[in-house]
This record gives sequence, structure tokens and C-alpha cells, in this order.
Amino acid sequence: MADTKFEGWLGKDEKSVEGKMEWGQFKPKRWTEDDVDIEISHCGICGSDLHVLKSGWSPTPYPCVVGHEIIGKAVRVGKNVSHIKEGSRVGVGAQARSCLQKDCPDCSQGLENHCHRESINTYGSVYPGNEGKSYGGYATHNRTNGHFVLNIPEGLDSADAAPMLCGGVTVFSPLKQNDCGPGKTVGIVGVGGLGHFGVLFAKALGADKVVGISRKADKKDDVLKLGADQYIATDGDKDWAKYNAQTLDLIVCTVSSHQMPLDGYLALLKTKGTFIQVGAPDGGKLPEINAFTLLAGGIKVGGSAIGSPAEIDEMLKLAADQKVKPWIQKRKMKDANQAVLDMVDGKARYRYVLEN
Ligand code: NAP
Ligand code: ZN
Repeated sequence: MADTKFEGWLGKDEKSVEGKMEWGQFKPKRWTEDDVDIEISHCGICGSDLHVLKSGWSPTPYPCVVGHEIIGKAVRVGKNVSHIKEGSRVGVGAQARSCLQKDCPDCSQGLENHCHRESINTYGSVYPGNEGKSYGGYATHNRTNGHFVLNIPEGLDSADAAPMLCGGVTVFSPLKQNDCGPGKTVGIVGVGGLGHFGVLFAKALGADKVVGISRKADKKDDVLKLGADQYIATDGDKDWAKYNAQTLDLIVCTVSSHQMPLDGYLALLKTKGTFIQVGAPDGGKLPEINAFTLLAGGIKVGGSAIGSPAEIDEMLKLAADQKVKPWIQKRKMKDANQAVLDMVDGKARYRYVLEN
């Protein structure tokens, strides 16, 4: 397998997000015996792919192949990787490597996703030394460190499992860590790819009441069908913040616009409530928060980034056990440019999954 040809959709500059990725060959990171090569069957389209294609967060080291919701077959497994067997169905999320040292305050506690020493993203990262760059899943193949390659439980369909690897775990992790479960009322802000998983997983974790909150009124029927108990359309429901004030214990917010009505969202929290931001605006900019909103309500505001491999594993098992069914739309890998354009236009209901 040493001579596998890696091909994919190359973003070559900021304009690539405008339907201008080009299909071509690329050189994966230098092989080590810690790595796994995957023949990709499916890859979800995440909001992050758009930020990186247009260099929204920081300058992207073009050429870049995006995609970090990867499912496929392990076709080459490094000697040091014991949990993956050649031929198995496996997945990779948004992280490709961390330092994994025993004395790392993050990795040693199972917080690989917060490793401050070395965090390599599945795409758009440059490895230290001369190992090359990381390339994602809008491609034929992917090469990732085995620690970040997961076995996919049998009960899950590949196209359903793909978007769970980033979109799913990014909301599952903060829900779990902030005690989403019986007795809790939970709001999910921004019902897109991540947000629809937020509704599904908040329900699967047993929350008493789940409220979907998004701009568009026409998502109401969908969100209720997903399992939410209530829907708030911030562009349609008059005085929504006032009428729903102090009703939620926990909010997970997937919106990435710095113009979001953040003070309105915070008004929905009960006293001592918690607001977790996962949406990642270009430039990192959030709206201003009024200090008195925090003081008066004793509110906590925090953030969360993807999830550790152990959390992804836990989420996949929960999804298989409880038959969590994401709403996906399959697109052909050859049509990736059009799918990206549709994602930019907010047309996904609720996650596009590219299929090879
Ligand atoms: P998405 O599918 O496009 O969903 C975002 C949703 O936000 C949209 O469906 C939209 O629904 C809503 N929204 C509300 N106000 C908006 C506004 N002013 N502009 C645009 N959308 C608005 O994207 P996604 O894949 O869920 O990703 C969401 C964000 O999470 C992205 O920034 C992504 O990079 C980030 N992310 C973060 C992590 C992490 O580790 N923290 C991991 C993955 C992704 P309405 O139109 O109904 O309002
Ligand atoms: Zn993602």
C-alpha cells in the first residue's frame, strides 16, 4: 500500500470557497508507524471547512484539502497502532494528532482536544520537522495518527456516522460535561449541522425539555420532528427573549456570527445557568456582553472545542444504542464544489455528506 495515490479537492486560495476547489493529487504527511491510511467512503461538510477554505480564522497554508468528518476503510495500519485492524471501518474527526506525552497536563487527562503542546488539525496544519501538512477528507484517502482513528460501531450507517465525528461530538461533549440529562432544560442555538445534533443528543441524554433556537421560522416543523419540545425563531417570534426569559439551565450556541443577539440568548438562562459557545466566528469576534447580565443572573459563559477520542467513542456507542438518526443529505464527491456553495447558502438540512 506504500504507493497509494492521494487525490482530493484542493483549495488553492481564498476564492476556493466560491466553488473553485480543484481536483488533484497531493502528498500526505510523511508515513510513520503511528499512522493509519484510510480509503475514504464518506466525508461530512462542516461549517469549519468554509472558514478554512476562505482563510477566515488565520491564513490557510494552501493548497488545502478540507473535510474532517471522515469514514472509510483502514488500508494501511502502522506497527504501533494496535486498536485498528487493516480492512476495518474507521473514522477520523477534526483532530489528527496531539503531543500524547505522559507529562502533558491535557493529554494525560484525556483532554487531547485541548493539548497546548501540539495540536494538529485533520486539515490545514503543518507538522513540525519535515513531516509535511495535514490533508482532509474531500479526497480518496486520508493519513492520520492512529490515536485519532476510531472504530465505528456496527449499528451505525457510514453516512450517518461521518458528521458525528466533528459536528456530533462538538455538541455532545459540552452537553455531557455540563450535566445535560433528566431534570434539565436545554437550549440549542443555531439549528444547522451542529445544532441539529445538539437537539438529537440533548434528547438522547435524557434532558426534560429541549428548545431549538434559530433565526428562520421555516425550520420549526423540522426542529420539532427532530425531537425538540419547543422552537424559537429569533427572526420571527416577537420579543422572544422577553417571553422565554429564565427558562433554560444550559445553552449550547453554534452560531458563528458576531452579530448574534447574545444578550438575548443569555436572558433565556435561569439563575446560575451556563452558556457554552462552540460556533467559531471569523477572527474570533463575539458580540459584547453586558457585565450586569452575568452578575445579576450568576451566569457562567464558557467554550468547548470538538471532543477527545474517548468522548467520540462514547458518543458513537450512545448513537448506536439509542438509534440516533441524523438528518443528512448525500452528495457525490465529484460534486463537492456545488455542495460547498449550497452549504454557504445555508441550504443543508442538516448536514451534507460527500460520498465516494
Ligand atoms: P451550519 O450548518 O452552517 O449551522 C450554523 C447555523 O447557525 C445555521 O444553520 C444558522 O441557522 C445559524 N445562524 C444563526 N445566526 C446566524 C448568522 N448570523 N449567520 C449564519 N448562521 C447563523 O454550520 P455548522 O457546521 O453547524 O458550524 C457552526 C459553527 O461551529 C461554525 O463556526 C463552525 O466552524 C463551528 N465549529 C466549531 C467546533 C468547535 O470545536 N467548537 C467544531 C465544529 C464546528 P439559521 O439560519 O436558522 O439561523
Ligand atoms: Zn467540523
